[in-house]
Amino acid sequence: MRIFSTFKISSSLVGHNLFSRLSLRRSHAPFPKPLMAATTEESLRRDFAAKQSAVEAQGNAVRALKAARATKPEIDAAIEALNQLKIEKAAVETELLSVISGGSGDGSVSREAFRQAVLNTLERRLFYIPSFKIYRGVAGLYDFGPPGCAVKSNVLAFWRQVREFIGLPKFINYGTVTRIQNFGIVTKGMQNIWQLYCNAEYPVVLPDECKTSYNIVGLRIKHPGKTSTLLISPQCKTLVIQYLGNVTGTSPVAYPDYMQDPGGISGTQSKLKLRKCHFVLEENMLEVDCPCVTPEVVLKASGHVDKFTDLMVKDEKTGTCYRADHLLKDFCNEKLQKDLTISAEKAAEFRHVLAVLDDLSAEELGAKIKEYGITAPDTKNPLSDPYPFNLMFQTSIGPSGLLPGYMRPETAQGIFVNFKDLYYYNGNKLPFAAAQIGQAFRNEISPRQGLLRVREFTLAEIEHFVDPEDKSHPKYSEVANLEFLMFPREEQMSGQSAKIICLGEAVSKGIVNNETLGYFIGRVYLFLTRLGINRKRLRFRQHLANEMAHYAADCWDAEIESSYGWIECVGIADRSAYDLRAHTDKSGVPLVAAEKFSEPREVEKLVIAPVKKELGLAFKGNQKNVVEALEAMNEQEALEMKAALESKGEVEFQVCTLGKNVCIKKNMVSISKEKKKEHQRVFTPSVIEPSFGIGRIIYCLYEHSFYTRPSKAGDEQLNVFRFPPLVAPIKCTVFPLVQNQQYEEVAKEISKSLTVAGISHKIDITGTSIGKRYARTDELGVPFAITVDSTSSVTIRERDSKDQIRVNVDEAATVVKAVTDGLKSWEDIWTSYPHHSSESADD
Ligand code: AMP
Repeated sequence: MRIFSTFKISSSLVGHNLFSRLSLRRSHAPFPKPLMAATTEESLRRDFAAKQSAVEAQGNAVRALKAARATKPEIDAAIEALNQLKIEKAAVETELLSVISGGSGDGSVSREAFRQAVLNTLERRLFYIPSFKIYRGVAGLYDFGPPGCAVKSNVLAFWRQVREFIGLPKFINYGTVTRIQNFGIVTKGMQNIWQLYCNAEYPVVLPDECKTSYNIVGLRIKHPGKTSTLLISPQCKTLVIQYLGNVTGTSPVAYPDYMQDPGGISGTQSKLKLRKCHFVLEENMLEVDCPCVTPEVVLKASGHVDKFTDLMVKDEKTGTCYRADHLLKDFCNEKLQKDLTISAEKAAEFRHVLAVLDDLSAEELGAKIKEYGITAPDTKNPLSDPYPFNLMFQTSIGPSGLLPGYMRPETAQGIFVNFKDLYYYNGNKLPFAAAQIGQAFRNEISPRQGLLRVREFTLAEIEHFVDPEDKSHPKYSEVANLEFLMFPREEQMSGQSAKIICLGEAVSKGIVNNETLGYFIGRVYLFLTRLGINRKRLRFRQHLANEMAHYAADCWDAEIESSYGWIECVGIADRSAYDLRAHTDKSGVPLVAAEKFSEPREVEKLVIAPVKKELGLAFKGNQKNVVEALEAMNEQEALEMKAALESKGEVEFQVCTLGKNVCIKKNMVSISKEKKKEHQRVFTPSVIEPSFGIGRIIYCLYEHSFYTRPSKAGDEQLNVFRFPPLVAPIKCTVFPLVQNQQYEEVAKEISKSLTVAGISHKIDITGTSIGKRYARTDELGVPFAITVDSTSSVTIRERDSKDQIRVNVDEAATVVKAVTDGLKSWEDIWTSYPHHSSESADD
């Protein structure tokens, strides 16, 4: 969810700074460079300026010597000194350029070239298509083509499923299980019953951690020592249990019946590989699916109608619109990156502007635009003053046009408005989480950065509702030992860079506000890295104090580095009780939870008792609104009113539902504190919200997965996407080596087995050379290729190593299934099957 960052009631903030777009805009604002880099850049700029003056002075000296007809040795010595200075200036210039371009030395030019290569491949292979291309397209709208759809659907499936073992489970010597049989869904209780066939000498007892890990919701021992019944949540389809060490000294494995005899799985494997327990299921998340069209009242309550804005400027002559902060950002970046002649002081000023860009008010932004003489990029015409533009697409619901609505800018509100029912569905228990995947719409002013900033995109959001007094998480220990790049507020403020921090340490030191927030940060890390995001190019950046909404307890963005810089891809925020309170206030429906006490507790309670008779006389038809508003006051407001009534006899009181202030007199309400016995504590839950921009994650994944390698002849560069099998749009291709009916028959048989095993694949029986066919599928990121070169056995080639093994025809699908499902690694396969070397592989 967009963070409404500065609801602070401060007159200087009214207007632009009361708006909500900070997190989005910040995601693309170049992050303030670490102080060290800035210092290096600063001293290099000074050095460069000094060398430049020295070159100029020496040039003048040479000219003066020549004019004065000095001796040749004198002139030669001066020229040599000049040349030496030019060399030194060039060296400083190179170093400065390298620092400016991020120290990578590759500079923006090669970053752009890399991006172009990725985009060309993606577009050519229909991962994406500019929407309405035949009508010249619309900025910020893109279609996913077949491989793009497959990648997106794999990412979303994994989002629902993400779960990974951290370390090995410790269930040793609990007996052995030889087979599990799925007995199908039992409607009562909505559970799958899996039958365990055991050869244990004593009953199978699964320890607690095992139950948690596997979503095993129950274990019924039918025949001790022989068979037990395991109750597993229905989605848990790829259960593989491996016992590590056991009473008989072997390592037996249990696997569902539909995967009978995967061959070689038992015995040698020393790691437990159970990857696919559902994310949604894992937290017992309640998934919902709400409409994209949202009535205005909902988005009014959430604050979007008033504050979901960006600042815009217009070309005064043509009316073309631009995002004001983008123009200022481009100007500063351009100066910093391309103009080596600016002084160190000016460079520091531009860097400062970039760092505070998100905090500039409309007036400040306008003043800077004027000061720097920034004009419309396309026409050089003058620009208007910045003004807020609401990013929601407006519509009306129904033919009358009387019910205004908007296309939702996020999915979260659908969950909040359903809180009451979801809480009930969850047995009136906290904590619980709800999740929603769906389209979000934002009418971006001038979408740039291709697939990263679009006008319609898929969001996957989780709202985890928790008691504000207890933000612990039962599974926190599973992620506490993870270590990854974190960028806490303090480090950012002091100009340091992100560093590897142990998550548990960050939580215990209070850098991360609470365990549940920490838990989700850890889970997001696992999710992204398992997808194939390079962990070195992933960091968790904490929002700065002024970047965060005043009501938020803590916010972190998962930022991924791409050719566009660091991009916010997932926001993880503790939004406290803001959202539920906002909808409670607007709808009048209390969105609250209750903690039942085992013994009644005596508490001092504030009692607000509106005197309805007096209020009725004073406000007539509006009496109900006033009563509700009085009753909705929080303790502080009520006590302030009590004090004012006692001292002045009356007080001005704002009734939001009437949209005006009314005058409340002393006889209209009684406010007192009374001792009461309470059986429960009623409170508004806090919300911890991980919000995943699926399109951004996918784009970064494309960049992190892309590489080129020379063709065998060395005459061209071939493109490859190194997608992990989990993400790959197609898992496997099947090629007959040459056009031959027998081979084609075998290829079709293998294709059938792959279909039965649920492996997406492509069969290519064209006569194209095998090398070309490999190259085509490498470009789609297909991880495995089965080549039929005989009727009894085939080869399986792995995309990145290009290694090939030989397997029997009837084993091919099983082997590919094991490796694409993550039950085996390619290394496991490589050590278990004969290798095949082929000359033709790289034609
Ligand atoms: P926000 O509600 O602004 O924090 O956005 C939530 C997530 O949506 C961000 O972390 C981004 O990944 C994604 N996102 C926001 N705006 C866009 C956009 N215009 N295009 C694509 N993804 C976006």
